[in-house]
Amino acid sequence: MLKRKMIKNFTWPLKIATREIEVTRLYPEVMMELPAVERGIHELDATTCIGCGTCARVCPNSCIEMVNFKFGNPLKNKKMQFPQIDFGRCMFCGLCVDECPVECLKMGKKVIMAGWERKDIIKGPDFLATKRFSAKEVADLEAEAKRIAAEKAAAKKTAAKEGAAKEGAAKKPAKEGAAPAKKKANGAEAKPKEGGAA
Ligand code: SF4
Ligand code: SF4
Repeated sequence: MLKRKMIKNFTWPLKIATREIEVTRLYPEVMMELPAVERGIHELDATTCIGCGTCARVCPNSCIEMVNFKFGNPLKNKKMQFPQIDFGRCMFCGLCVDECPVECLKMGKKVIMAGWERKDIIKGPDFLATKRFSAKEVADLEAEAKRIAAEKAAAKKTAAKEGAAKEGAAKKPAKEGAAPAKKKANGAEAKPKEGGAA
């Protein structure tokens, strides 16, 4: 037994020297295959995020902050606020993903994240967004949002005018009807007085 082990120990360096034996994984050139359920760095679809901030509120480690980002949908996300994640504090629990009402946040497959300083692993929407609009698309959507807002304001104004006109029309006959009633009341009051004097 001991003899066999000794022979193996002598032959192993010879094998390594003569053949290309993979002793360790050649990371980062060669990555291991990750399982389907791997929870890696989050992926954000900035085209559908509504900026509700639910992900930030439910995060148990308070590592999500809502920040500005230009390449989302101004029709859906009026304040253009998107999540930024501090991966120094994230425990990859996936709660933010589960609670997102529009399913625009998911756990991705990227796991490489290194930096020299803590702030290097705070990743904003620019890093997280796997889907985003171009500057031109955003400008078109903004124009559309302005047009819709102007239409709504005009409709509100018209509705207010119509409401005021209806109110005015309803008050007029009421006033007119009030005058004869007063006269009648006066007459009714006068009659007993006359009778009482006689
Ligand atoms: S995975 Fe968990 S800890 Fe990380 S940002 Fe989402 S809710 Fe917070
Ligand atoms: S990622 Fe989801 S939960 Fe977070 S702000 Fe966007 S829509 Fe809301």
